[in-house]
Amino acid sequence: MELVLTTHFGNDRYRHADTYEQLGGYAAMRKAFSMPKEEIVAEVRKANLRGRGGAGFPAGVKWGFLPKDLSRPRVLVINADEGEPGTFKDRLIMSRGPHLMIEGIVIASYALTIHNGYVYIRGEFVREAEIVQEAIDEAYAKGYLGKNILGSGYDLEVTVHRGAGAYICGEETSLLNSLEGKRGWPRVKPPFPASVGAFGLPTIVNNVETIADVPWIVTHGGEKFASLGVEKDGGTRLVCVSGPVKKPGVYELPVGIPLRSILYEHAGGMQDGKTLKAVIPGGSSTPVLRADEIDVGYDIDSMQKIGTMAGSGGVIVIPEGTCMVRALSVLMNFYAHESCGQCTPCREGCGWLARVLRRIENGEGREGDIELILNVCDNMMGRTICPLADAAVMPAQSFIWKFREEFDRHIRDKKCPYGNRF
Ligand code: SF4
Repeated sequence: MELVLTTHFGNDRYRHADTYEQLGGYAAMRKAFSMPKEEIVAEVRKANLRGRGGAGFPAGVKWGFLPKDLSRPRVLVINADEGEPGTFKDRLIMSRGPHLMIEGIVIASYALTIHNGYVYIRGEFVREAEIVQEAIDEAYAKGYLGKNILGSGYDLEVTVHRGAGAYICGEETSLLNSLEGKRGWPRVKPPFPASVGAFGLPTIVNNVETIADVPWIVTHGGEKFASLGVEKDGGTRLVCVSGPVKKPGVYELPVGIPLRSILYEHAGGMQDGKTLKAVIPGGSSTPVLRADEIDVGYDIDSMQKIGTMAGSGGVIVIPEGTCMVRALSVLMNFYAHESCGQCTPCREGCGWLARVLRRIENGEGREGDIELILNVCDNMMGRTICPLADAAVMPAQSFIWKFREEFDRHIRDKKCPYGNRF
């Protein structure tokens, strides 16, 4: 199986520039400097590289949104916030192969005529921030960052910026506000970051994995990358599997691989004595699947066709014996806590969902509570500044639609059938 990112992740020295170079690193950057800039962008377009942060927008198309006018400086921001529960692959790239990301930053910045890049790392990633900073220092020392890179006349400064641990700062405009030293609140769009982004400048925000794929694309060509995946969704992706499987972890797999194969071949299947009940396939905000819905390709379009998302690649496995009311209640507490509070439907709705679910779980549910939850969801979805409200609604609706009987039973029997209580 062709690997794009993780071939050398078992080598502890790979995070250092010397070893990275010995293993072929920074050759793509040298090649890129000899290519016309438009050709680099064209290869990324051909690669069908879809953003790996969650939204899945085609990276090459996104790059094309920058205004043609070069009179205003442009900015590249790497979203290394990775706050989506169930997702832990960007931290792997940053800790095992930070130069993949840095080389991707140099190539993308060069192609897009950008001279300032930022890596926005979530606050909790203390060790990763240190490793990335060390790698950036090495890249400066080797002349791969800074002034006149490799004598090309091209300059690029890259700065690490650490967040303070807010989930909402994974949303790109909130991240930009935070980067500017402001409160991490999402911005009303338009304008979109490509025209008014960091410090009011045209800005591209790319996820860590997305940008780390770029050197491979430049080396091997966009078509080759595209051929690793499926139509309109190329390459491999890092899939994070958590829950009671035999081998939880991060797997680099071709886009489009069946979800069943991820769980039962790569992650080794369920732990002894456990049976699969459900899967949250792309991070906690994606609609849940029942155990009988996992015969689907793990790519953006296939997942969408069955009403869910590959999202950020976080596959959360839920075993039989799990109370779905409690599981959803835990998720809603998270979203209620993380709502930034700007929009009434999100601020009030997330808290409302959390409170109603808690009372259902505690045996105090009322007749009509499920309809109430669904009604609140309808009044949140698509009515807010950013997608956090949708991120709460999608699991809430899908848990109820697919496991309605459990919710009804809690209310009817006035207790949790699994004996839980908050
Ligand atoms: Fe803030 Fe929620 Fe509105 Fe997003 S949807 S801006 S998190 S209140």
